[in-house]
Amino acid sequence: QAEAKKRLHDIAGFRPITPDGKTLELAANISSFKELEVALSSGAHGVGLFRTEFLYMDRNRFPKEEEQYEVYRSVAEKLGGEPLVIRTLDVGGDKQLDYFELPEEDNPFLGYRAIRISLDRQDLFKTQLRAILRASHHGQVKLMYPLISSVDEVRAANAILNEAKRELEQEGIPFDRGLKIGIMIEVPAAVMIADLLAQEVDFFSIGTNDLVQFTLAVDRMNEEISHLYEPYHPALLRMLSMTVEAAKRHGIKVGVCGELAGDLRALPIWLSLDVDELSMSSHSILQVKERLLRTSQKDSREVVLKLQECRTSTEILELLQSFMERVG
Ligand code: PEP
Ligand code: MG
Repeated sequence: QAEAKKRLHDIAGFRPITPDGKTLELAANISSFKELEVALSSGAHGVGLFRTEFLYMDRNRFPKEEEQYEVYRSVAEKLGGEPLVIRTLDVGGDKQLDYFELPEEDNPFLGYRAIRISLDRQDLFKTQLRAILRASHHGQVKLMYPLISSVDEVRAANAILNEAKRELEQEGIPFDRGLKIGIMIEVPAAVMIADLLAQEVDFFSIGTNDLVQFTLAVDRMNEEISHLYEPYHPALLRMLSMTVEAAKRHGIKVGVCGELAGDLRALPIWLSLDVDELSMSSHSILQVKERLLRTSQKDSREVVLKLQECRTSTEILELLQSFMERVG
């Protein structure tokens, strides 16, 4: 076992490339500066998802622009030019803030949360956008909006972003004028209009945690129905391929940042669809890379063709399992 561990460690510095030459960047999901250390020692190609809500949960009032800027900037600098995708506030649903009273809701996951709060409380949103813009001067920062379900939401968010840019310009504060804007694809409506959304943004990141929940109408926190939470449901496969195809057709990058990105069984799906990046918890990165180095895109395409004929998640999982065993 010690030997296996050493081998994993050795490949931290290897490029994430299949035997037949497909590069699939592996990035880290983090929630704080502290988590960055582990990400870097795992050989992560930057951060594909910085969940900023923990910056808000850690205190008893909203973090000021300056406080946020300090954190975003230190992460960007520590990454030394590698990409950093900062996701704007994604509270509500299961994530609460002690000092910000959210309405009592029957269905909080379908309620006042994420980008919906940001567009409602533009004061809070602009503070965060200013902090992110300022940090963009110190590294390769990208901005990402959570829980997008319409083109209108993207445009409304970008309008506030443009206001923030104008303010900084007037104040003579530097920021990256080419800052890339992306959205999470985690609501089925966003999948269905992925071709329209792709014309509004620079990249997609598929959030499989919420996408599974909303596609199957299965609360991701509810133990009672956890057996129905099936990431390998045929509906999900179709959702994934629709999203990636729309991104490709419009020439934008597409990644995956939900838990499924770090699941070894899903790797042939990403290779076959030709996804650009997987972002996952740091502890999964080396394992996924080790397997990536041995899994060809050609073989992945063959197995995924067969997956498309499957009618149940059990059939899909069986095929993926036997493919894993063949790769060894
Ligand atoms: C997701 O929904 O897949 C995701 C990555 O975001 P979160 O888990 O923070 O909702
Ligand atoms: Mg989500």
